[in-house]
Amino acid sequence: MFADIHTHSTASDGSLSPSALVNLAKEKGLSGFSITDHDTTLAYQEAIPAAQKVGLKLGVGIEFSCVFEENDVHLLGYDFDLHSPGIAALCHRHQNRRAHRNAQIIEKLRDHNIDIALDEIEGAEGSIGRPHIAELMLKKGYVGSIKEAFNRYLGEGKSCYARGDVLTVDETIETLHQAHGKAFIAHPQLLSHGFPIHKLLEMPFDGIECWYGNLSSKSAEKWERIAREKNWLMSGGSDFHGSIKPDIALGSQGVTEEIFNQIFEHLS
Ligand code: AMP
Ligand code: ZN
Ligand code: FE
Ligand code: FE
Repeated sequence: MFADIHTHSTASDGSLSPSALVNLAKEKGLSGFSITDHDTTLAYQEAIPAAQKVGLKLGVGIEFSCVFEENDVHLLGYDFDLHSPGIAALCHRHQNRRAHRNAQIIEKLRDHNIDIALDEIEGAEGSIGRPHIAELMLKKGYVGSIKEAFNRYLGEGKSCYARGDVLTVDETIETLHQAHGKAFIAHPQLLSHGFPIHKLLEMPFDGIECWYGNLSSKSAEKWERIAREKNWLMSGGSDFHGSIKPDIALGSQGVTEEIFNQIFEHLS
């Protein structure tokens, strides 16, 4: 494996700091890497010098939360200008979205006699979300596992789910393109039942994540075929989160050197 380009740090819902993540990638023998935190690029302040220190090629990445016709979908953004004002503005809107949404979720949990305060949620420097709420529910004994917190309360469509303000696929792709970046559909295998996938595939993406997490190479075939038909790039990554998803190992999935270089054209 040359590069794992789907990972999360403590800037969102991962358990390793950006520099610890970079060092682990190097230890695992990777040559290329990307951190794709949810709706934030904060990790790069720390990750860039850490990667330079150990000689790891670090491509810029992010995972944006989007809505497409009332369905949640994640977009991976790669190789954009890290200091683009458009990207910063979009991340800022997500921070506001998350602040309101977390308050809504907590209110709904209260109706189920689950008592959590906003200021109890800790962990993320950049982007706080449902995994942090789930961890707190586990810590306070309301659920037996993170999985249970999602399955019973926090998952899309469950009793305490709140979406928050809608940020669309259109505007997210457009923002990435204006910042000279590329937009990929993340883990299409995880799209909800009934998702209008054919309409999503008509959007001006640059690529699609075919190889994902612990999923088999069989699960990639359909998406590889679609990428070939559309002349899109194919990507892959572990979606490593550290202790939140302990069954996923860093570097378990990724891309070749050739693909890495196609995606990260702006890497010096
Ligand atoms: P959020 O950014 O607040 O919408 O939370 C999304 C993140 O929650 C995902 O990237 C996963 O890390 C996590 N997540 C979503 N669904 C589940 C689930 N069923 N079990 C465990 N973690 C999940
Ligand atoms: Zn996550
Ligand atoms: Fe995701
Ligand atoms: Fe992810």
